Amino acid sequence: MLKIENLHAKVEGNNILKGLNIEVKAGEVHAIMGPNGAGKSTFASVVTGNENYEVTEGTISLEGEDLSDLSPDERAHKGVFLSFQYPIEIPGVTVTNFIKTAINAKRKAQGLEDMPAAEMLKKIREKAALLEIDKTFLSRSLNEGFSGGEKKRNEIFQMAMLEPKLAILDETDSGLDIDALRIVANGVNKLKSKDNAVVVITHYQRLLDYIIPDFVHVLADGKIVKSGGKELALELEAKGYDWLK
Ligand code: ADP
Ligand code: MG
Ligand code: MG
Repeated sequence: MLKIENLHAKVEGNNILKGLNIEVKAGEVHAIMGPNGAGKSTFASVVTGNENYEVTEGTISLEGEDLSDLSPDERAHKGVFLSFQYPIEIPGVTVTNFIKTAINAKRKAQGLEDMPAAEMLKKIREKAALLEIDKTFLSRSLNEGFSGGEKKRNEIFQMAMLEPKLAILDETDSGLDIDALRIVANGVNKLKSKDNAVVVITHYQRLLDYIIPDFVHVLADGKIVKSGGKELALELEAKGYDWLK
């Protein structure tokens, strides 16, 4: 699904990623952990094509296709999804209308017509039911006055609707309370399938009490310095990150 080799990237003239390698297969959930400032959010930004970050070396491919020359929109249309740590508010645009627009933009990029209204409605209902999202929520203005948990609910709803091949959830600095963590975790657990892959970035072991990752990686100083199974998260909680340096 996702293969990254020897990735080096810069922001504002500073080298942040310094030879990062990772491979994520379909059906897998990977967690990326690591100390603050290690480059975790940079990794997410670079994979999704954020233009503030300059890739200076290495390759990023999705299902064998090199993503380097693709814009963030093009990557999204190919099935890459990134959650936002600081979601934008769009007064007057409802949760439903926002996702309808996003879905139809993706379809257009794939040469498809707009999704028929009845099919869209059915899909919205199904996904909302799966994630226990009520109707009132769907007609609220995007992110306006949303609590942390509601922002997460919206994000997971978008993910459910867009059905990305690769979802990257960056939960590092978002100060999630336990309810918000549960929303994210339940969403991931319900949406994961043999055909998609999820990368959860987190500073805290706590989230991994609810999402059981297949692999855990430690990102430190711009590289993956250790990889293991879910037990690595517990070891990190007990021992911190310093022993890896
Ligand atoms: P993490 O998510 O692991 O906490 P980040 O990827 O956010 O780490 O940051 C890694 C380093 O890159 C930090 O030193 C941070 O200050 C720097 N950095 C990240 N984004 C930017 C940016 N847009 N402008 C300047 N420096 C940045
Ligand atoms: Mg940080
Ligand atoms: Mg971060």
